[in-house]
Amino acid sequence: MKLLFLGPPGAGKGTQAAGVSAHLKVPHISTGDMFRSAIKNATPVGLEAKKYLDAGELVPDSVVIDMVRERLSMPDCANGYLLDGFPRTVEQAIALDEIDAPDIVVDIEVPDERLLSRLTGRRVCGKCQGTFHISQLKDEHACPLCGGALSQRNDDKPETISTRLRAYHEQTEPLIGYYSGLGKLRRVEVNRLRTVDGDSRPEEVFKGILATLE
Ligand code: AMP
Repeated sequence: MKLLFLGPPGAGKGTQAAGVSAHLKVPHISTGDMFRSAIKNATPVGLEAKKYLDAGELVPDSVVIDMVRERLSMPDCANGYLLDGFPRTVEQAIALDEIDAPDIVVDIEVPDERLLSRLTGRRVCGKCQGTFHISQLKDEHACPLCGGALSQRNDDKPETISTRLRAYHEQTEPLIGYYSGLGKLRRVEVNRLRTVDGDSRPEEVFKGILATLE
């Protein structure tokens, strides 16, 4: 199955994608994770992407599209994929349809007013990459799964969050119309969009996603 998750930053796409990709046995491909790892390893893509991630802005389409094209050509994607964080612009969605079109697009919806507290309270483990909210943690600095050091993502600071939410509403939200075939950006006859309420406990959201895939 070729699947992608849409939704604003903080909707829980990464958390849900980890569980759903394991369930469906398809690779979880997060462009945000790919950029963070490229930055850590100081690759040419990482050096170019860093300023955009730090500012909460989108990395230019050509850079992201080339990176995803290469990733989707790898053997583990032969039976499908779960894309998390791509596409984020109409240009990227058109490119993906040409590379290897998704069968289903899951839009995880969470109201803006809930996103700010989710994002400012998010902590990530540097060792196992687990993601937690401070409200779940006894110790804000230690991973409850592996004991690794927890930290806040640079772009989860309040000043960067508003730029990321603006980028989502202006550049990514139009994809809902693109994939439902109902908006101005209608490109296909089939409605590939499934909407899931992301404003509840992670286990409930997971069940909602599996139900919509059946
Ligand atoms: P994420 O982890 O999905 O929230 O992504 C973190 C950051 O990586 C974003 O704020 C962008 O700077 C960059 N990024 C990730 N995916 C894309 C994409 N599809 N297009 C452009 N920039 C992206």
